[in-house]
Amino acid sequence: MRVKLIAVTCPLLEGMHEGSQERLIASAARCCWSSKPIEEIYASMGRERVERFLEKLMKLEHLSPFEHVSLTFYIEGISRVTSHQLVRHRIASYSQQSQRHVKVEEGSFITPPSIRENPEALRVFEEAVESCMKAYRKLVELGVHIEDARYIIPQAVKTNIVVTMNVRELLHFFKLRLAPDAQWEIRMMASEMLKQAAEVLPTVFKPLLERRLKGE
Ligand SMILES: Cc1cc2nc3c(=O)[nH]c(=O)nc-3n(C[C@H](O)[C@H](O)[C@H](O)COP(=O)(O)OP(=O)(O)OC[C@H]3O[C@@H](n4cnc5c(N)ncnc54)[C@H](O)[C@@H]3O)c2cc1C
Repeated sequence: MRVKLIAVTCPLLEGMHEGSQERLIASAARCCWSSKPIEEIYASMGRERVERFLEKLMKLEHLSPFEHVSLTFYIEGISRVTSHQLVRHRIASYSQQSQRHVKVEEGSFITPPSIRENPEALRVFEEAVESCMKAYRKLVELGVHIEDARYIIPQAVKTNIVVTMNVRELLHFFKLRLAPDAQWEIRMMASEMLKQAAEVLPTVFKPLLERRLKGE
């Protein structure tokens, strides 16, 4: 799979610099307790103050300010099993490759490691996928539109999707989908998303990434 962070909220307030997304979250939260206009609040927020403030907000679970920054990821080559798990997260926006318009090609299937590592299971899996693909091609040859022929396609089929989540929802998503009981493929995807999110919003996401690297 390929996971790429392709967009992030860009504040239009003066004094933009690296870390402006975290500064925006901190400034939005300060708005709750200040009579000053947002421009002044934003201008007064230095890096250290932002960090301290965000840590405090997370501790207090005062999380609505984290909704003002969104991240957009392009995710390529995950199975439809995983994309279905992903789109169950409702506080997000999605644009997914359509099987009504894009034909399923040979070799576009994910094989789970538990199957790949077992030669007999792998043989059964590959035969079943090939048989479905054969039926798919035949249905199309018979004039069935690909939107109906796809009913025969296994859930292992690969898909591409663009997803946008705000930071609060991402924290929730990571909590659920990096947990040991989440499935391997969505954990792998969430882990890549977390690494890239931590580069843009280190105060918010790095502690989670570090805990994960330690295996906690
Ligand atoms: C390990 C695991 C196993 C799972 N197994 C199954 C399964 O067997 N079957 C199945 O159907 N699903 C299953 N799910 C999916 C799960 O039930 C959720 O649909 C999915 O994780 C999305 O999370 P969510 O509902 O918390 O939050 P999101 O949709 O990401 O929403 C975030 C939060 O917003 C709030 N929210 C959003 N919409 C509403 C609403 N309508 N009403 C009230 N509050 C709302 C909730 O607080 C929610 O936690 C599984 C998930 C995991 C992680």
